Amino acid sequence: MARPRTTLTVLRTEQLTPHLIRVHFGGPGFAAFRPSEHSDSYIKLIFPEEDGHEVLRTYTVRSVDVEAGTLAADFVYHGAEGIAGPWAASVTPGTTIDVYGPGGAYTPRADADWHLLAGDEAALPAIAAGLEAMPAEAVGVAFVEVAGPEEELELVKPDGIELTWLHRGARPPGELLAETVREAKWRDGQVQVFVHGEAQAVMHEIRRYVRRERKVPAEWAASISGYWRRGRTEEGFREWKSDLKKSGDADD
Ligand SMILES: Cc1cc2nc3c(=O)[nH]c(=O)nc-3n(C[C@H](O)[C@H](O)[C@H](O)COP(=O)(O)OP(=O)(O)OC[C@H]3O[C@@H](n4cnc5c(N)ncnc54)[C@H](O)[C@@H]3O)c2cc1C
Repeated sequence: MARPRTTLTVLRTEQLTPHLIRVHFGGPGFAAFRPSEHSDSYIKLIFPEEDGHEVLRTYTVRSVDVEAGTLAADFVYHGAEGIAGPWAASVTPGTTIDVYGPGGAYTPRADADWHLLAGDEAALPAIAAGLEAMPAEAVGVAFVEVAGPEEELELVKPDGIELTWLHRGARPPGELLAETVREAKWRDGQVQVFVHGEAQAVMHEIRRYVRRERKVPAEWAASISGYWRRGRTEEGFREWKSDLKKSGDADD
């Protein structure tokens, strides 16, 4: 990803759902931020450690308002574990944080016959931004797996996109999502796919299904990857991805 570094100031936070916190950033440093044209634009928040090392955590840019000099990101609060989730839950206005980016690569294509989007809470900001970026006549399906009905959000989307909320309850993250995508009606024509979330479910279940069974060419299914891995921190997840690549298991 591009490595420009920007210092952002926390302006305020907003509790969107019991487990989703929106952090609004701005401040004088925002002037140096160059927004991406992609709807899955993301930044890496830099958390300095005492030994001088930096710990990075990746978050989607949910929205940018260049005129106002602000951007927003939605953080899943997945418990007291971790760095970024607890940070979002306790950060106060005026706090500054450096970020790298933005990166990003997905934009809904107007020449797709239909769209398939799927993900969990971590991918919800990118799915929401993707739906907002679609032309009004876009058609397709979007599946979002969340813990329960209290985690649902109002999303702006084209009428032709059927949005289904899935409630995982006590099931492991991604299991219901993978099952639902596999069982959903597969439409005719060229699909563009955007699937992100818990890595095992996405990479081992949905990616294989889309690429191998449905034979969607890479060009139309470039955006299928894990956003996090159950039981691993972001560093541990990076190692997991690297091992997967070495074993050739990430290939289609
Ligand atoms: C391109 C990209 C965009 C992303 N956008 C977003 C976004 O907009 N919002 C967002 O919330 N996340 C997003 N993520 C995922 C986020 O980077 C990870 O969830 C990250 O691990 C969170 O860091 P942490 O410090 O809170 O937890 P970590 O220190 O990384 O992990 C601590 C523990 O929490 C678990 N954990 C981590 N994330 C979750 C989760 N979502 N649900 C349940 N358990 C979890 C880990 O498995 C680990 O056991 C994105 C990831 C990528 C690659």
